[in-house]
Amino acid sequence: MNASQGRLLIYATFGLVSAVLAGLVRRHGDFDDAPLFLQVSLAGIGVGWGVLIIVDVVLHTWRGEGIPCPQCGHKRHLRAFRLAGACPNCGA
Ligand SMILES: [Zn+2]
Repeated sequence: MNASQGRLLIYATFGLVSAVLAGLVRRHGDFDDAPLFLQVSLAGIGVGWGVLIIVDVVLHTWRGEGIPCPQCGHKRHLRAFRLAGACPNCGA
């Protein structure tokens, strides 16, 4: 497993956990009706996403590798925190 696959696995795991938690909360009706541990877990996942994305961006910027395209993995270099923009490799 290389770094890019490991990164994808972390994102996939986070996405899956988020989806499961959101599904569980929805079964209780509203967010406020869900048990406390579900509310805390979902809030934790939300914070986790934020931290994950920040660490990801900072790490790649720090290494000078650019941000890999979510579509094809082609490294894009950040220009002044401009995250949006088409991928030069696949156009995504
Ligand atoms: Zn691409």
